[in-house]
Amino acid sequence: MQHTMPAQPTEAETGIVDAVCGPLLDPDGRTSRLGFHQSQQLRNLLLPALWAVQDALGHISEGAFAYISDRLLVPPAEAFGVATFYSLLVVGDEGGSLTYVCDDIVCRRVGGKAEIPTEVGSPCLGQCDRAPARLMTTPGEEPLVIHSTGKAPHEPFSREIAGLVGEIDPTSLNAYEEAGGFAALTTARAQGSEWVISQIEDSGLTGRGGAAFPTGLKWKLVSAEDGPRHLVCNADESEPGTFKDRYLMEGDPFSVIESVALAAFATGSSHAYIYIRGEYPLATSRLQHAIDTASQHFGDITIEIRRGAGAYICGEETALFNSIEGYRGEPRQKPPYPTVSGLFGRPTAVNNVETLAHALRIVKDGAPAYKANPTRLFSVSGDVALAGVVEAPVGTPMSEVIAAAGGVVGELAAVLVGGAAGTFALPEHLDLPLSNDAARERGLSLGSGVLMAFNATADFEDTIERIAEFFADESCGQCVPCRVGTKRQAELVDRAQTAPLELVLLNDLAEVMADASICGLGHTATNAIRSAYELGLVGDRNG
Ligand code: SF4
Repeated sequence: MQHTMPAQPTEAETGIVDAVCGPLLDPDGRTSRLGFHQSQQLRNLLLPALWAVQDALGHISEGAFAYISDRLLVPPAEAFGVATFYSLLVVGDEGGSLTYVCDDIVCRRVGGKAEIPTEVGSPCLGQCDRAPARLMTTPGEEPLVIHSTGKAPHEPFSREIAGLVGEIDPTSLNAYEEAGGFAALTTARAQGSEWVISQIEDSGLTGRGGAAFPTGLKWKLVSAEDGPRHLVCNADESEPGTFKDRYLMEGDPFSVIESVALAAFATGSSHAYIYIRGEYPLATSRLQHAIDTASQHFGDITIEIRRGAGAYICGEETALFNSIEGYRGEPRQKPPYPTVSGLFGRPTAVNNVETLAHALRIVKDGAPAYKANPTRLFSVSGDVALAGVVEAPVGTPMSEVIAAAGGVVGELAAVLVGGAAGTFALPEHLDLPLSNDAARERGLSLGSGVLMAFNATADFEDTIERIAEFFADESCGQCVPCRVGTKRQAELVDRAQTAPLELVLLNDLAEVMADASICGLGHTATNAIRSAYELGLVGDRNG
C-alpha cells in the first residue's frame, strides 16, 4: 500500500501536475489502482512533473511532492530521492528567483563567482565561448542565460555540418526547407533503412560524444533486435569546456530534429527522445519550436524532448535512461548493452547531437564524399582571441584549430584536451593531428572535442582543484571506488597546495577507480589532474 504524506497541494500545484500527468485514469480518481505496467508508464513523467512545478513556482513543496507521488504511484521517499539528485530542482517550501553563476574552469578565469544570497555557484553552463556566464531562473518565466557577447572564430575550413548556423533564421521552417532541409530524410525513406545503415557503416562514422563507438554498427545492432526500439539523442553535453552541441541546437535546430528523425527511421524506432541538459533553455525552446512546426515531415515518428536537471552523470547513456524513466540518474551495469536492453528495457540507439549531424550529411552526400572529407567540431575556449566552435577536417593539427579561434592570447602554457575528463597537452604537442587514432598514440583522448587553452598567467593549481571538486560533486555515489575516490582525490589536491603531492596515493586511487568503478566518470576522474602533475604544470614544491 502506498504511503502518503500529510501535506496537501495547493490548487495551483494540482493544476500544474495534472497538466503533465493527464486526466485521472479511473472513475473514483485513484490512479493507485493501476497495475504495475501502467505505473511504470506513469513513472517516466516524474521528472517532467517536478520540472513543471519548479518552473512555475520556483520550488517543489511537500504538498506538491505528495500529489505528484500519488498521481504517479511513486512512493514519496523515492520521489524525494529523485528530486534531490538533481541540482536544478529546489526541494522545500521556499523558493523563488535564483541565479546560477558558472564558476567552472573557464568562467572562474574571468571572474565567475556567486556573490549574493540568491546566487549559486554552478558547474559548467556550456557557455565557455561567452564566459563569464549565468543562468537566471524566475518562477513562471523562461530561464535566461546571461553571457558575454563573444566573438565567432574564423572559418578557414569548409563547414560541412555547421554550414547553416548563422546563415539562416533558426526559427524559420521555410528558410530551412529552402536551404535543402528534409532532403536527407526524403532520400532515406526512398532508399530504405538498410541502405541508410550501410551508408553510415561505409562512412566509418564514430560517435562524437566521447566514446567513439562506430555509429553504423550501433544502428545495425539495434535494428536487428525485435521492436519496439527507441532512439535517444543525447544532448546532455555537460563536460566542462563542451558547447558544440548547444551551438548546433541553437543555430540549426531543424537539422537536429531532421537528424533525429533520420536515425529513428533507420533503426525502426517510432518514438525518439532528445534528452537535453536543463542549463540550455534557448536550445530547448528552439528544438521544441522546430518539432512543433515540422512534425509533418516525421511520418509516424514522434520526437519528444526531456530536460535534464543539473546532473553531469546523466550524459552517461544508461544514467540518461534512468533519468527519463523517472529514477535517479545512476548508471547501470553493462552488459546488457543499450542496443539490447536500453530505455524501458528495449533496444535503444543513443547518439550525440554532433554524431547525428554527421549522419545527416552522410545520407545527403553519400558515404564516399563524406569519407573524402570527414570533419568534426571542436569547442575552443580559454585564452584564445575568438573562442567558439571550429569545424575542421579530422586530422587537422591542433595549432591550426587554435589559430582558427584567433590564436592564443599571451604565451601558451598548456591545452586541456577533452575537457575535465581529458588530459593536458604542452605547447610542443600543438602539431598533434586531431583524430582519435593520433591522439591515442600520444596518450591523449579527444573526448567530445574540447580544446581549452591556458596562457602563462593561468593558475593551474586552482584549475585542478576545481576539476577535483567537480568530480567529487558529480559522482553519483553509487559505487564505492568513485564515491570515495573522488573525495579522496579532492583532499589530496587540496593538501598538495601546501605540501608535496602524495603521488603514490594518487596513482593508487587512480588505479582502483579505473579498475572498479561502474562508469566512465570513475574511470577518467583522475586523468587531467595526474597529467597536470606529470607535465609539471603544478607541483614545483615537490622538487
Ligand atoms: Fe556513479 Fe561514479 Fe560509480 Fe559512475 S563510477 S556509477 S558516477 S559512483
